[in-house]
Amino acid sequence: MSGQDFPPIEQIIPEVELERMSALQLLDIISHKLVVQGATPSDIALLRRRLEEMEEVQDEARSAVEKLSEAVEKLRAPALRLGTLLQKLPKGRALVCANGTDYICNVDPSLPEVAMETGTRVLLNEAFAVTDAFGFDKNGPVVRVTELLSDNRIRVGNESGVSDAVVVRSSLLAKEKLKPGLDLRLDSNQRVAIEVIGTAKRLDRTLSRVEPIPWSNIGGQEEAVQAIRDSIELPFLHAHLFRRFNHPVPKGFLLFGPPGCGKTLLGKATAHNLRLQIKEETGEDRPEFFLNVKGPEVLNMWLGESERQVRDLFAQCREKAAEGHLAFLFIDEAESILGTRSAHRMGSNILSTLVPMFCTEMDGIEPLQNVVVIIASNRADLIDPAILRPGRIDRKIRVRRPDKGAAREIYKIYLNDTLPLAESRDDLLETVVEAHYGKSEMNRFLEITYRSGRHDYLHRGDLASGAIIAAIVERAKEYAIKRSIELKNESPITREDLLSALKHEYRENDLFPPSDITEDWLKLTDFDPSNVVRLSPYRPTEQTHVSSTI
Ligand code: ADP
Repeated sequence: MSGQDFPPIEQIIPEVELERMSALQLLDIISHKLVVQGATPSDIALLRRRLEEMEEVQDEARSAVEKLSEAVEKLRAPALRLGTLLQKLPKGRALVCANGTDYICNVDPSLPEVAMETGTRVLLNEAFAVTDAFGFDKNGPVVRVTELLSDNRIRVGNESGVSDAVVVRSSLLAKEKLKPGLDLRLDSNQRVAIEVIGTAKRLDRTLSRVEPIPWSNIGGQEEAVQAIRDSIELPFLHAHLFRRFNHPVPKGFLLFGPPGCGKTLLGKATAHNLRLQIKEETGEDRPEFFLNVKGPEVLNMWLGESERQVRDLFAQCREKAAEGHLAFLFIDEAESILGTRSAHRMGSNILSTLVPMFCTEMDGIEPLQNVVVIIASNRADLIDPAILRPGRIDRKIRVRRPDKGAAREIYKIYLNDTLPLAESRDDLLETVVEAHYGKSEMNRFLEITYRSGRHDYLHRGDLASGAIIAAIVERAKEYAIKRSIELKNESPITREDLLSALKHEYRENDLFPPSDITEDWLKLTDFDPSNVVRLSPYRPTEQTHVSSTI
């Protein structure tokens, strides 16, 4: 047999088909030709097996390469985004926040409904479709609740109280009773409150109840009492008339005057009496809540902490008011936090942000909504005018030092007729008031030098205050008690007790500065500082010495 009987394969099989044939099929055809020419079938089977093995190895290699390129492809693909589910929407969609941007995304219908809760983390594919959900975020920033808003929204601030935001509740917190001051953890996109972390420590200066102080317990402040009653009691009791006449209702007032003259007392009395008046007029009993804080206590070296404290004070009041209390926020020594820039020595930035923040809080108070703000200061001239604008603290009420008549009223309150007295109460009052207000040499208390060079003296009466009078009477009582113990018999209060107490109280009362520094003493007086070069305690011995050397 010759090759002529077996034409080349290309001639028997069309080229296209030949292309498609595997090596083994080709081999089978060729081996058939070889068998005819003498090759044994086992030779050919051997060759075939070899080829088969080779083809298997090749298949394996191909699939390994395919896998590898798939892996390479995956490694090269950009990462998928995670977002926070803000809200489920109709038609299989959801509002999702990812990297600070909101998206309306399609949701993979195969995802179970329960996995899609507000606040959960969801996976977004390249087309920003939600393809998976991973439950709630485990970490995120911690913030503090500052206010509960409508629609279940929450106003939060951070520890320093500077940056504020409004967030929504996660499904976990949907029914939780939240309160201002609580610490919450947000999702990492800072849009949803996920869980309650703890309670922040609050300023602990609350006097939830005020001891009952009738107006009659305040001596010699008729003008101030009347002004308070007009500006606070009237609008509360006759709200309809104020509305009818479209007359602005004050949200608060400033009590200004020297220390110890009854500013705090007036504040507390306002709270107590307003409660009584409202009860009398309307039958409604709204317990008072009196938050009493001194300006310097709010000041804190930590950035933003003072702001947080002030905000917290307002939040506490609003909270109490919402519960039906009459809430009073009383800030004593207000010039220390609400002063003009030039007013404070600290020169810190804390203060420059406190005033605008206080104004914002004041603006947020609805008049007659049970929150009354009272600020007290003995340096009203230093209070930033922004605080005193209409609609904020727009009533200024002067609290004066007691004159002789007022002092008699105050002595009368403390030296009441239930006490054991050595002589008639009127005589005792007469004696002590005369001694207190006499312009005698013995009563000289401060020496003043004016810029003009003129010298003068301030007497004890010029620096009298309700606090001093109360202290004098208490001291006199102590003398009588000690004597009674010694004598083993009740010994009533005498005029000597009162006179001696008067003398000692002026030496020791801590209302007076311990030093001779003019500036400190000036704070106790109404003098214009620019007119005075020196103001210091009067020392008779020193005086005698000076005059003898002239
Ligand atoms: P301020 O707030 O002006 O510094 P306070 O109201 O704290 O003064 O007064 C301190 C104390 O002095 C009061 O608790 C009260 O005992 C007494 N006091 C002051 N002013 C009067 C007053 N006008 N009538 C009766 N007591 C007074």
